[in-house]
Formats: sequence, structure tokens, C-alpha cells
Amino acid sequence: MNIALIAHDKKKELMIQFCIAYKGVLEKHSLCGTGTTAKLVSEATGLNVRQFLSGAQGGDQQIGARIAYNEIDMMLFFRDPLSEKPHEPAVSSLLRLCDVHNVPVATNIATAEVLVLGLARGDMDWRDIVNPKSEK
Ligand code: PGA
Repeated sequence: MNIALIAHDKKKELMIQFCIAYKGVLEKHSLCGTGTTAKLVSEATGLNVRQFLSGAQGGDQQIGARIAYNEIDMMLFFRDPLSEKPHEPAVSSLLRLCDVHNVPVATNIATAEVLVLGLARGDMDWRDIVNPKSEK
């Protein structure tokens, strides 16, 4: 499965801890993420995370384009609900695209945990039928 990782600044440490905790599951899949998130997760965990542009530079939209092509099977997007982002419209459009293409998405760690545990037990295997191009 192709999994996209995005975390706003105040949630980056949480994303790193999450990826450390679930490294055993995540390493079986193809990971990508917005610039800083991908870099930090990769450095902290040793996981191979394909790095797109930083969110503010259009990284969210690069991921959005892949969702539109059905190339993303799951998105973990740890949003900071307490500070306004200048690129908030890109965030909303990303979440909208996930709904359009039925991509499982978590915007907080509680849901992310459920999704990753589901992923480990094969609950997302239906995505392979929707997206046969998925790398793993
Ligand atoms: P970043 O982008 O991972 O490059 O910080 C995330 C975002 O703010 O959308």
C-alpha cells in the first residue's frame, strides 16, 4: 500500500513517535510525505519515506494529485486544529479528495492507530482491487 504522511509543525513529534511505534507495520508499505514530515520521520525511524515538497510549497497538492490518480491507499494527516495555516484551502481540498476516492484518512493519532492496526490485519486489502498499481 502507498501511505502518505503529513503533520503540521506542532504534530510532527507525535508523527515521529507514532511511526517509531508502528515501524514494524509501516516498513512493509511504501511511504511518502510532505517535505519536513518525510525527512523527520525518515531520520528518526530509518524508514524510507519519499519526500515531496513542504506543505506550504505545494507538497499537500502533490499528494492530492496522487490521491486523484488513486495512487494513495491511506493518508495519515496529523493536523494542528489550534493554529490557522496559510495553506488551509489545500488542506481542505486534500481531505475532500480522500472522500472522493474513498481513501482511508486519519487526522489524529487515535484514528491513525485504528487504521494502522487494520492495515496490519489486512482490512485495507480491498484497496489492492481499487488500486492494482499499488507498489506493496
Ligand atoms: P511539512 O508540511 O511536512 O513540509 O512541514 C506539512 C504541512 O504543513 O502541510
